[in-house]
Amino acid sequence: MIMELADFNVKERSQWCPGCGNFAIVAAMKGALQELGIPTHQTVISSGIGCSSKLPHYLETYGFEGLHGRTLPVASGIKLANHKLNVIAVGGDGDGYGIGAGHFVHIMRRNYDLVYIVHDNQIYGLTTGQASPTSQLGMKTRTTPNGVVEMPFNPIATAISGGATFVARVFAGDMVHTKEMMKQAITHKGFALLDVFQPCVTFNKLNTYDYFTKRCYKLQDSGHDSANVNAALEKAFEAFNTNYEKIPVGVFFKTERPTYEDLQPQLKEKALVEQDLSGLDITPAYADMM
Ligand code: SF4
Ligand code: MG
Repeated sequence: MIMELADFNVKERSQWCPGCGNFAIVAAMKGALQELGIPTHQTVISSGIGCSSKLPHYLETYGFEGLHGRTLPVASGIKLANHKLNVIAVGGDGDGYGIGAGHFVHIMRRNYDLVYIVHDNQIYGLTTGQASPTSQLGMKTRTTPNGVVEMPFNPIATAISGGATFVARVFAGDMVHTKEMMKQAITHKGFALLDVFQPCVTFNKLNTYDYFTKRCYKLQDSGHDSANVNAALEKAFEAFNTNYEKIPVGVFFKTERPTYEDLQPQLKEKALVEQDLSGLDITPAYADMM
């Protein structure tokens, strides 16, 4: 079954604040899945904890809302159990770049064929406005009344150097571009990071729709070569180096390398869930560990 846009009104059912960038993300994801023609029963969306992690509730796919910062371990488990599924992990900047940062770093080395979409609103929204790992220097929040003094985490540079094979960023206010980048991330073979600037209209009064509209420009229009890792890293630091006057969006880096699933001989013939494990005796392996 392909989901129908008309069958579900997220605005009526959601717990998000009116105007939140999360609405654009869920609409873009719905459009991307529809246009790619991926049946709803073949997609699983995992999430952590936070405003963004409610997203699986609002799409007619399979979903799993897990623990804070644990969307990636859940997504990788799903992928290993049935690597034929379209697996999408979602979460926020606090969830994925704070408590979940260890998972983020190690999943990129493995290059599972899955997509990680981070709703990066540069604040902790659900807990009412504390500074997050990506809050900009000088930003005043409930926990930083004199302004953030810590260097913000750079997810794009971390992903490029950490082994991700598709690294992109979008601004949720440009829904058409967001949907197109989601389609590219989903069809990419390997681990794809899509960091989404998602305005939190209630608690982040700095990074607004206007803020991003004035500053974002598309890499695809600037002649950027996404196969060039050095050029990608330079672009990854451009926002910080220009004091956020120029913020590139689009595909920073893209490459090919075998996925983790491809390198597992046990998965060559069929998915784990399709295999008959009834006669399997693990007693010798267990005894070996004692
Ligand atoms: Fe969106 Fe912010 Fe409201 Fe959370 S608190 S739903 S991120 S606007
Ligand atoms: Mg956040």
